Amino acid sequence: VRVVAAALVHYPVVDRYGDVVATAITNLDLHDIARSGRTFGVSAVYVVHPVAAQRELADRVQRHWTEGSGSRRIPDRAPAMQLLRVVSKLEDAMVCMGSCVELWTTSAKQAPLAVSFDVARERLREEGPPVLLVFGTGWGLAPEVVDQASVHLAPIVSTRADGYNHLSVRAAAAIVFDRLLSV
Ligand code: SAM
Repeated sequence: VRVVAAALVHYPVVDRYGDVVATAITNLDLHDIARSGRTFGVSAVYVVHPVAAQRELADRVQRHWTEGSGSRRIPDRAPAMQLLRVVSKLEDAMVCMGSCVELWTTSAKQAPLAVSFDVARERLREEGPPVLLVFGTGWGLAPEVVDQASVHLAPIVSTRADGYNHLSVRAAAAIVFDRLLSV
């Protein structure tokens, strides 16, 4: 069984026009992805932001729930929030995981040569290098991140005929963890 971590990328992501931007940290994303990650056994949740003030915000939220009054009031949050690792760039997360780490990107759009969840799940059960599951914000991961990936996971799709597919990153992360890491 391979080590699996997640990264929530705030830069580089694209906006609605396809321009590369940085997005703001969302408190709810930190909580929900940490809780889902802890539930499904991911080793860490990297929060990637290039702006120091945004990283400090994420650090403060984390400390509140791991050491501060939040940890005394609702102790169940601490094991989840301890998974957060706030870093300034995706490469820092990759360095933490070791030189052979594989990036597996997620997207609402079908990529050429996308790997199905069934195949990806099997690969995680084989011996192999650690895997960093990469999630976007804004309108999704910038091409420069997608181009580095060794696996592009297939999108989560429904049977809706009209193609509506706008999951929050929090919901998408929980579904991806469940599909890849549940019993
Ligand atoms: N502002 C949005 C929010 O409320 O979270 C951010 C949307 S962001 C583009 C959504 C991210 O969640 C994508 O980059 C991808 O990582 C993941 N995601 C969303 N829909 C998905 C889907 N159908 N399949 C796989 N991943 C998906």
